[in-house]
Order: sequence, then C-alpha cells, then structure tokens
Amino acid sequence: MAKAVKIVEEFIAARKPRLIATANAEMVMMAQNDCELKKILNNADLVVPDGAGVVWAAKYSGELIPERVAGFDLVQQILRKAAKNNYRIYFFGGAPGIAEQAKTWAETNYAGVKIVGVRNGFFASDDEPRIINEIKSSNPDVLLVALGVPKQEKWLAQNIAQLGVPIAIGVGGTFDVMAGVVNRAPIWMQRANLEWLYRLLSQPQRALRMLALPRFVLKVMSFKKH
Ligand code: UDP
Repeated sequence: MAKAVKIVEEFIAARKPRLIATANAEMVMMAQNDCELKKILNNADLVVPDGAGVVWAAKYSGELIPERVAGFDLVQQILRKAAKNNYRIYFFGGAPGIAEQAKTWAETNYAGVKIVGVRNGFFASDDEPRIINEIKSSNPDVLLVALGVPKQEKWLAQNIAQLGVPIAIGVGGTFDVMAGVVNRAPIWMQRANLEWLYRLLSQPQRALRMLALPRFVLKVMSFKKH
C-alpha cells in the first residue's frame, strides 16, 4: 500500500494522464474473455492487487506481492494525502445522490479535502461530452470513476487522453461504501482473506459472477504447471 501511494504521488507530480486499475480475481477472469479489458489491464500505468486471490496467485507463481491493496483502501489513503497536499479530487459514478453522499462523508473524515466535483454514473452517450467538459473544467488531480467493471476501465481508457487528468482510477463500489449504502466486511474477515465470502453472503446476486473465483484458482494452478 505504501508503495502504491508513493507511485500515485509521483504520478500526480508528473502531470501526465495515467490509468490505475484495481484487479481482483473476478476482473482477471473477465479479462480472459474480454480482449479490450485485457489490453487495458496490460497497458495500465499501475495495477494494484485488489483481492486475496490475486495476492495468493502471485505467491503461488513465485512473484512477490507483499499485501493486498483494496481499491477502497487506496482511495482512503489518497484522500488522506489529498487533505494534506491539496490534491483536487473528482467523484464520478454511482447511483444519483451517492457521489454527493460520499463527498460529504469524505469532507467529514478528511478535513480540508477538496472534492472539486461529483457526477452520478448513469448517463446516455449524448451526455458524455458534457461530463468530460465538466470534469476537465474542475481541473482535478485525481479522477475516481465508479461505473463497475469493465465499464469504468473502458470508459477511462477511451477518455483519459482528452480528460488530461494526472490520475484516473476505476473504483467500483467505493462510493457506495463511503455513502454508507453498502458495508464492507468486518476487519477480521478482511484479515482472514474472507472479504469475498462477506460479499457473497451480503450481496447474493453476485453469486454467479463469483463463480469466477474457483475458476481463477484452477487457472492459476494449471498455468503454473506449463
Ligand atoms: N454504476 C454506475 N453506472 C453504471 C453501472 C454501475 O454508476 O452504468 C455504479 C453502481 O451504482 C455502483 C458501481 O458502479 O456504485 C459498481 O459497484 P460494484 O460494487 O458492482 O463494482 P464492481 O464489483 O463491478 O467493481
């Protein structure tokens, strides 16, 4: 996490548009069949290991990934730094009202933080030029985009050059948690690498997409053999 935050700060200082992805096992499996997503992940400026599965897979394959960097936690670290260093943050995504609630929560928890704009994530393609102009004119250092995987990654890859924002990150359900409409797993479950189980129990509608997890484990095991 410390290394990821350091890279984020270096990216902000460099002022060149960079895309950050937070990859978990579901996303990696989705990328097996979605060439566009796969290309985006492989070309991203930084991919953080957002899941116990990815950290396990790295270890199993002999790579050193010391710890999980959950998207939600990375965003909290960025907000903490933003309050201190005056970074400008834009919240784009979530159902109507959610980004506003997340902004209020962030302003309460990170005194002085500058959330320079919010916009919900439900829009027609006709609205996109206006959304892009709105983001550009707010001049953020960090753009957080919560449209779900893979929509957020694809939207960002398509628009990052013209947005000109130093950092753009797809953050999934992060605003929902900050707004208090979705709960994260208790810390003990996160530490026991059981956040996936909490998600499965609290959002059973995710069960089908979570079948990707056992498929991911099998894929990693078979990959190592070759
Ligand atoms: N969302 C959105 N626009 C869309 C589809 C989804 O703003 O067209 C939001 C949705 O309201 C939710 C987030 O994207 O806040 C996706 O959260 P989820 O936990 O499903 O993220 P994922 O697991 O896909 O990263």
